[in-house]
Amino acid sequence: MRTVLILGGTGEARRLAAALTGVRVVSSLAGRVAQPSLPPGEVRVGGFGGVAGLTHYLRAERVAAIVDATHPFAARITSNAAAAAAETGVPLLVLRRPGWTSGPGDRWQRVPSLEAAAEAIRDAGRVFLTTGRQSLPAFAHLTAPWFLSRSVDPPEPPLPPNVEVLLDRGPFTVETETALLRARAIDVLVTKDSGGDMTAAKLTAARTLAVPVVMVDRPPLPPSVEAVATVAEALARLESATDFRSSPTSATSS
Ligand code: NAP
Repeated sequence: MRTVLILGGTGEARRLAAALTGVRVVSSLAGRVAQPSLPPGEVRVGGFGGVAGLTHYLRAERVAAIVDATHPFAARITSNAAAAAAETGVPLLVLRRPGWTSGPGDRWQRVPSLEAAAEAIRDAGRVFLTTGRQSLPAFAHLTAPWFLSRSVDPPEPPLPPNVEVLLDRGPFTVETETALLRARAIDVLVTKDSGGDMTAAKLTAARTLAVPVVMVDRPPLPPSVEAVATVAEALARLESATDFRSSPTSATSS
């Protein structure tokens, strides 16, 4: 039976693992979250050890295809997957949900990085930070704003001096997000352009309350990787194309 390795940590990765049939599916998680939502089937947890470690894993496990369904901001594992796929000849498909687009009433400022987001809010008043616990160091030097930082697990130092940490996990509703922005008198929302429905309610709430949004752009994909936007497209690609159906020679020799 062919082995498909799904690099996960997203809802799309879990849905793809649940939908794939007739193959051995191994879902891989980084191990960052204390109590992760687990996909069905086989799961491995922890880094591979860079490109060399992933290359070794692909050969040892005779992986026939990789689907990189990691978060759009998990740039290092995506880069490693592209390099290991090139090294082994194992076909790689990137499953990346589309980013968000602004509409009428939105007050978005797009910035290229967390550092640029920090610069954009350096003199802001009350900031709702939803960029994840690993992003807090980029804002740690800011003494002026008060931050409400939301993350699944507690962030580790360095943190900004004026920060309240809210531990919560999506999906969120427009009603609760609107109530939160109101209750905390938020002046500006900072978010990554993660895309998807799970955390989009905050953008609707910000539009409703005319709260400005600082939107951090995604890192680019490595050149020449094939990408699809939905689980259905990934399934169709895995099931139809011959390069994903047969194991490459290099993957079967360990
Ligand atoms: P990253 O910076 O791209 O990766 C750092 C290292 O973590 C990688 O070099 C790899 O270690 C390991 N790693 C990452 N994803 C892995 C996976 N699925 N399986 C095994 N090892 C993995 O990643 P990140 O931004 O820290 O994100 C870590 C995980 O959290 C990802 O799986 C991602 O889908 C999920 N996530 C990230 C975000 C975000 O905003 N970045 C948000 C939600 C969920 P080795 O080099 O040792 O292999």
